[in-house]
Amino acid sequence: MTTSSQEAALRALRDLHGEVDRDAARLAAHHESRIHCARGCADCCVDDLTVFEVEAENIRERFPAVLAENRPHPPGRCAFLDSDGACRIYEARPYVCRTQGLPLLGFTETPEGEITESRDICPLNAEGEPLDALPHAEMWLLGTVELRLQRVQAGFGDPDDRVALRDLLPGV
Ligand code: SF4
Ligand code: SF4
Repeated sequence: MTTSSQEAALRALRDLHGEVDRDAARLAAHHESRIHCARGCADCCVDDLTVFEVEAENIRERFPAVLAENRPHPPGRCAFLDSDGACRIYEARPYVCRTQGLPLLGFTETPEGEITESRDICPLNAEGEPLDALPHAEMWLLGTVELRLQRVQAGFGDPDDRVALRDLLPGV
């Protein structure tokens, strides 16, 4: 049973997912010639993903039949992949799955206080303009959505409460 504050956190999560989808779609359209993401392509659907409890609850609320009736994909791939390589909880998939395939941009601070930049992309989408040549505005900036997600989780419950996707399905 979710409380009213947890329901508010779930609404905030769904708004955030919607916002991420819109921004990711805009970037994907910009990089259309290099991005080969499609239903059935699932190299990025790895088996060790964990999500905040609020994202786990979103999956429970929106896909109760999948959780109650489906068997997990065998270990080695995400439990939610089906036999065709498609996601069985696509509309409720967590944030981390919504930007896969885009050119990614991250910044980290070394212990000495130096800011370093890192760029990455799925190897299947690597062909095209070199990542180093892309302007920041044409990449997905890591960090900001993650911070907002942390705040949404803090409104839902324990800020550190994470769940393995595989643990959401029976028969593990
Ligand atoms: S939740 Fe769906 S999109 Fe995300 S890793 Fe699992 S199968 Fe892939
Ligand atoms: S990120 Fe890579 S592995 Fe995942 S769907 Fe896109 S092209 Fe396929």
